[in-house]
Amino acid sequence: MRLKCSMILDLAKKLLVLDIDYTLFDHRSAAESGLELMRPYLHDFLESAYEQYDIVIWSATDMRWIERKMAVLNVANNAAYKIMFYLDNAAMITVHTPKYGVVSVKPLGVIWGKFPENYNKHNTIMFDDIRRNFLMNPKNGLKIRPFREAHLNWEMDKELLHLSVYLYEIAKIDDFSKLNHRNWEKFIKKAQYKKEKRHKRDRTDNNEPKPPDSQPKL
Ligand SMILES: [Mg+2]
Repeated sequence: MRLKCSMILDLAKKLLVLDIDYTLFDHRSAAESGLELMRPYLHDFLESAYEQYDIVIWSATDMRWIERKMAVLNVANNAAYKIMFYLDNAAMITVHTPKYGVVSVKPLGVIWGKFPENYNKHNTIMFDDIRRNFLMNPKNGLKIRPFREAHLNWEMDKELLHLSVYLYEIAKIDDFSKLNHRNWEKFIKKAQYKKEKRHKRDRTDNNEPKPPDSQPKL
């Protein structure tokens, strides 16, 4: 299989693998332009992730569709971030499982095998709305909420915004295999709680005056 990568890779970066349909884009709704079907915060999400992660797009469709969608969404050739490469259904493998029968999955080993110096199970995370796509690498997958009915959900959907925070927080962790991505939302809450606690403590240590309580104590 061909994997074209013209970027100079930074050994410090981790790897983020992203599905397209229902993850970044609602491919089933009708619209005047594909842009209307883009998941909210997509560009902010990619720009923020790119600081600490190399980004790969992996969709179960074929390469022509991936290229077309990425061009319509302005993800291809974006000045704020780069996508390392795209993978399509040709890079998927078929496995037989008692639970699902015969299914196509996205084995991360395809990428790890090509870039053994850079990526492995300790520094890779993959987002998809279908859990069975991680079957070969269950610990590296995070099942996101699907983005459907773009017109109805556009204002409410903050999944990518919250996932940006998660990616930022876990980027400090050396070994992703210690994480359980099913608890990603709890992880963010805990990290934010810890941060607030630290700020409070620092303020007390510095003997700075505390801000007046805006709420009466009950
Ligand atoms: Mg999908």
